[in-house]
Amino acid sequence: MRKPFIAGNWKMNTTLSEARELTQDLVEHMASVELCDLAVCVPFVYLFAVGEIVKGTKIVLGAQNLHWEEKGAFTGEVSAAMLKDFGTDLVIIGHSERRHIMGESDEMIGKKLRRALDAGLRPILCLGELLEEREAGTTEEVLRRQLEEDFKNIKGEDMASVTIAYEPVWAIGTGRTATPGQAAEAHEFIRHLLAGMYNSAIAQDTRIQYGGSVKPENAYDLFKEEEIDGFLVGGASLSAEDFSKIVEEALRARDL
Ligand code: PEP
Repeated sequence: MRKPFIAGNWKMNTTLSEARELTQDLVEHMASVELCDLAVCVPFVYLFAVGEIVKGTKIVLGAQNLHWEEKGAFTGEVSAAMLKDFGTDLVIIGHSERRHIMGESDEMIGKKLRRALDAGLRPILCLGELLEEREAGTTEEVLRRQLEEDFKNIKGEDMASVTIAYEPVWAIGTGRTATPGQAAEAHEFIRHLLAGMYNSAIAQDTRIQYGGSVKPENAYDLFKEEEIDGFLVGGASLSAEDFSKIVEEALRARDL
């Protein structure tokens, strides 16, 4: 069985003192959680402070981006080695806000994925369709393109370190969640693609999170779908109480 994996994505939120307080609260709320992997993906500037608090707890430290080059003249960018220096274990790559607001291409995302893995970081690779793509019936075409291009230089042996997050762009931060059926269908299609790109064992073992307005109120129904192995949670991860309720509901859905 794929172990559930729920990660928070704080995006560009919190002050330093809020980041510390939220992390302390999360550590307290999560102390008794055993059967689920947990992570927080925080702004670069808070990695050190949050890392100090989560050290030795169940909560894994993640970043939200990295640059694909090892080092050099890339003003304002952060390398994989710098993230490792701060004790970062995970990194989100290809979030829709980076694809669609910051203009990241599949080629850039593929290079970031390769760099993260080479540096020993575990990536959460996000993909998903825009509303107009879903309405035009091209969701599968978009997922296929993203997956094939982003994973072009990723080998089967790398996949044990990779999590995929299916995040329909129309559901992110909008309060509009994919139905459990829509999410499961997309996850199943991603798994079918992985089987073709690698093999069926890798497709079965790769964890696929759902992301897009996950809240305590919808976590149970979503997690009833076996295809959903976890969540990437944005807005609701800014409240330790909501985040821990999401974890509770997800585990309840699986009788864990
Ligand atoms: C996200 O940040 O990846 C996300 C899914 O955000 P939200 O939960 O706020 O929709």
